[in-house]
Amino acid sequence: MEYVGAAHHKISQLVNENAIVLLSTNLSFLAYVNDNIETQGAIAVAVDTERALMKSIVIHAAKDLRIEDQEVDIAGPGEVLVDMAAGGICGSDLHYYNHGGFGTITLKEPMVLGHEVSGRIAAVGDGVTDLQPGQLVAVSPSRPCGDCRYCNEAAFNQCLNMRFYGSAMPFPHIQGAFRQQLVAHAAQCAPADGLSVGEAAMAEPLAVCLHATRRAGPLLGKSVLVTGCGPIGLLSIMAARRAGADFVLATDISDFTLSKAKEIGADETINMTSGDGLAAFTRDKGHFDILYECSGVEIAVRGAIEAMRPRGIVLQLGLGGDMKLPMMAITAKELDLRGCFRFHEEFFTGVSLMQKGLIDVKPLITHTLPLSDAVQAFDIAGDRSQAIKAQIAFQ
Ligand SMILES: [Zn+2]
Ligand SMILES: [Zn+2]
Repeated sequence: MEYVGAAHHKISQLVNENAIVLLSTNLSFLAYVNDNIETQGAIAVAVDTERALMKSIVIHAAKDLRIEDQEVDIAGPGEVLVDMAAGGICGSDLHYYNHGGFGTITLKEPMVLGHEVSGRIAAVGDGVTDLQPGQLVAVSPSRPCGDCRYCNEAAFNQCLNMRFYGSAMPFPHIQGAFRQQLVAHAAQCAPADGLSVGEAAMAEPLAVCLHATRRAGPLLGKSVLVTGCGPIGLLSIMAARRAGADFVLATDISDFTLSKAKEIGADETINMTSGDGLAAFTRDKGHFDILYECSGVEIAVRGAIEAMRPRGIVLQLGLGGDMKLPMMAITAKELDLRGCFRFHEEFFTGVSLMQKGLIDVKPLITHTLPLSDAVQAFDIAGDRSQAIKAQIAFQ
């Protein structure tokens, strides 16, 4: 029996073959026909006049998060239908949940949240040969147009028509991937065989940190400071270590996240709420070659810049809105200030590194809650005294 997603294409193909086609929306009836009637050339096909329903997580306004039914889409040529398995709650999802947006970006219509997702292939559309039903995939939310001036320069994350899941930057908003079923392009799917569904859903934040690491240039033997130990800070520590950093120091204001930083490979940690902070690293114009700024907090950036050595590189990952920077220090120390935003091909690199055991994200997944407890999951995800990455289980 053919399932809903492939019906359109299958029907035209069968008609061309002069087969007898039985159309129905009743799946169990069709299954019965296919199992019990051996008429040569007769094939029962489910049609999609009444599409199946699934649940999705929709943000309407700050603190107004709802679980709603939506119709399941159909996988067209080159596409796959994915039964979603895990979805990580990101800082941006939390901004929509807590404040209805961030910076100049605000919700103007209800939007399905989510962009850190994994799932299993449920059906493949025409022309998809490299993905099999049942296979676990990490689904990249990066959907550049492939045809604008930046796509033509292979700067895909700067695409002028980017359709990144769960983003209120454009209007209409780009609906997200916190849903039980998702139709994606096959090229978005990184086979994640051997990983858990939770690990596969970490591919997105990991890709952000790998992209920043690429922006940093060579890290072998370098001294690295990481400010902010949420998921992005911690994954940055892993990425820097993997790239050959010699000394990694992490700062935060939560003992819980700092203990995670130690656990996953930081050499030293400093809780900035007590003691001298980074004072010991400001002698002789500063110590660090590379800064991964993952807090988005002005006071953290200022303190870190004091601890940067001349000609160091500041990677700004934290999205805390506009802030005042100490331009005199940046100028006099000849620091490089490098923005880091999203990723593209690094998504597949991240999945590969995890599959080979070269990066282990498991310690970062602190909570997994069922879809029905989505609101609770969002409340926990923002609590840095107990949560690093909270994920939702969709099935
Ligand atoms: Zn994210
Ligand atoms: Zn483009």
